[in-house]
Amino acid sequence: MIDIHYETAEKESKVVLPEKLVFGRTFTDHIFEMDYDSALGGWHNPTIKKIHNLSLHPASMVFHYGQAIFEGLKAYKQVGGRIALFRPEKNAERFNNSAARMSMPQIDSNLFLKAIKELVRIDKDWIPTKPGYSLYIRPFMIATEPCFGVRPSENYKFIIMLSPVGPYYPEGFKPVPIMVTDKYVRAVRKGTGEAKAAGNYAAGLAAQVEAKAEGYTQVLWLDAIEQKFIEEVGAMNIFVRFKDEVATPALAGSILPGVTRASVIQLLKDWGYNVSERAISINEILDSYKKGTLVEIFGTGTAAVISSVSRLKYKDELIKFSDTEAGELSTKLYDELTGIQYGKIEDRYNWITYVD
Ligand SMILES: *Cc1c(COP(=O)(O)O)cnc(C)c1O
Repeated sequence: MIDIHYETAEKESKVVLPEKLVFGRTFTDHIFEMDYDSALGGWHNPTIKKIHNLSLHPASMVFHYGQAIFEGLKAYKQVGGRIALFRPEKNAERFNNSAARMSMPQIDSNLFLKAIKELVRIDKDWIPTKPGYSLYIRPFMIATEPCFGVRPSENYKFIIMLSPVGPYYPEGFKPVPIMVTDKYVRAVRKGTGEAKAAGNYAAGLAAQVEAKAEGYTQVLWLDAIEQKFIEEVGAMNIFVRFKDEVATPALAGSILPGVTRASVIQLLKDWGYNVSERAISINEILDSYKKGTLVEIFGTGTAAVISSVSRLKYKDELIKFSDTEAGELSTKLYDELTGIQYGKIEDRYNWITYVD
């Protein structure tokens, strides 16, 4: 275990949180930063610093060949005043899986978790306390070796940043309209869809922009081979509640394995729902809607926790749920997960890690 070196006094400036917190626009005082050099034996100089601009050589390989991965999790100020993280070991594990896929170096999971805890502790006054607010944690890694050769970089930078955030949807827990695209694909099995790799998101922007222009908040991706089976939404996994079953696409290699997804599956099983991870075709959803056996659809992810779907558009077909009320199960899951995160509901699965 490497000791974390502090380059900064713990408290330097007074925290003034803006009245309105737009997601990902406000940053705290400090970052965790460490560098990797294969010639120097790997990771070195783990340091907590004041937030600063980076100075990188323009030939840094991240700018040209895109070795960049990230994670996203949150710290919550609980009702009793303690600071909680939700299953952060899952993010450490997924980060290393993403790194392996992108030929980037591994980071010791204990160091990854220790760095998050220390940084959150130092900037704890930035954690907003209003209901639904939290501190978003963004670890990421980029290739920094200056070289035009196409091969894995010999140098990397690992950084953790913090951003106080309000509820993902400023209008409140309202359902969102989603458009199914068959014009683009996000990921294919054996590709990089399983990794939280920056390039996946760049590749999805065109579809997102087109969906927005038609009044839809997000895109639901179909499988890349047959364009028949649903996969996931921008940065959320998807669940479909039929009359006798709650189904979510199986992790077959092109879908991001969400921590929220895994937690929702666990909760649903324990509540006695018939849960399955399987292939779900868009036609099955449309048929079920026409037969009256489609109950609700929702997305799961750290940022929004649960997003109930109000409308699902596919070609000329439109599935309509309520535009104003979130689905029954979506609401129940949202209340349960946020209840555990904010310490209002007992942490019976040991999902919480305390920072202090
Ligand atoms: C991050 C992400 C998710 C959700 O994962 P969580 O761990 O639940 O936050 C789902 N899909 C994609 C593409 C993502 O990037």
